[in-house]
This record gives sequence, structure tokens and C-alpha cells, in this order.
Amino acid sequence: MRLWLATGNAHKVAEVQEILGGRYVVVASDTGVEESGVTFEANALLKARALVALTGEVALGDDSGIEIDHLQGGPGIHSARWTAEGDWIPRVLRELDGVPREARGCRYVCAAAAVWPDGQEVVVRGEVAGRIVPAPRGAGGFGYDPIVAPLEGDGRTFAEMTAPEKHAISHRSRAFGKLARLL
Ligand code: IMP
Repeated sequence: MRLWLATGNAHKVAEVQEILGGRYVVVASDTGVEESGVTFEANALLKARALVALTGEVALGDDSGIEIDHLQGGPGIHSARWTAEGDWIPRVLRELDGVPREARGCRYVCAAAAVWPDGQEVVVRGEVAGRIVPAPRGAGGFGYDPIVAPLEGDGRTFAEMTAPEKHAISHRSRAFGKLARLL
């Protein structure tokens, strides 16, 4: 079954395809809709609604980001926009310079929404808790992965894990796993 996903991010498409597995073929379209919501859930729904309007088929949207305890939960929904992409990791490390290990908590959050052509909507959330490491490690994943070590892991960052290892615990797999049961 074909499933539309509202994103222009090839990494997300690959991750969602791997998470949902062979029952679905994930096809992506970037609607360019303004992320004007104030929650991950609201923005995931905005993206999915924009895409169902374009395709006339059930559409998925996701919105994700990182919440950092020392930044009072920031950058949160602004994770992609609070600074230039090349500065995402340097800025986190600057903001947390000198902050001890026990105060470097964070979590990845992902809201995943499905909207059907008849107007039915569902939205769910997945989270994974982690810690910001002192310096980037690893070449896998994307975004903030080189500086985020999940608490339920073995100390490696998400960027040091294989894709299946990341999917076993990630916010995105938790959200899309819940969503898949509702499709
Ligand atoms: P979105 O595309 O509006 O959902 O923004 C996602 C933001 O959160 C971007 O800055 C991503 O790099 C970051 N992000 C979301 N999920 C992940 C992940 O699995 N690993 C690393 N960064 C992520």
C-alpha cells in the first residue's frame, strides 16, 4: 500500500520506510506548509492535512526535535530553525559548555499524524531520553545524532549505532510504530 509522507527530508523518508516495513511504500512530498503550530502534534497535523489536500489519499506528517533540559526544553519545535544547520551541534555544545554530565539530559520527540480524505485524523507521540555528550561521535543518522547518547543504550551516540539499533529505540520508530497500528 502506498503511503504519502509530508517531508522533504530524505533521511526521514528512509527511516519511516524502514520502520513501517514492506507492507507500505512510503512516497514523500514536501508541502512547504508553514510550521505555525506551537506543539509537535499541531505541526505534524498541519503537514499531513496539507498533503491529503494535494493527493486525495491518506497522508502522514511528522514533526520532531530535541528538548534539552539545560535549555528549559529548547530548542524543541524550533530544532531545525533556531540556528543554521551547520551550527546545530556547535550551538548545543556552546550552550552546554561547562555543564556537568548529570545536567546534560535531553529527549528526542516525534509526533506522527495521519489524515484521511474523509477528514478523520490521528496523532501520536514517541520519545527517547538521552544525554548530550561533550563532543560529537559517529557518522550515522542525521541532525543531532552525533551528540545524543540514549539513556537506554550502551553509551554510544545515535550516530555510532546501526540503523536497526537506532530504530529499536528511537522517538520516530515509537511514534510511527503506534501510528502503524492505527492505519
Ligand atoms: P522537522 O523536520 O521540522 O521535524 O525538524 C526536525 C529537527 O529535529 C531537525 O533539526 C532534525 O535534525 C532534528 N531531529 C529530528 N529527529 C532527529 C533524529 O532522529 N536525529 C537527529 N536529529 C533529529
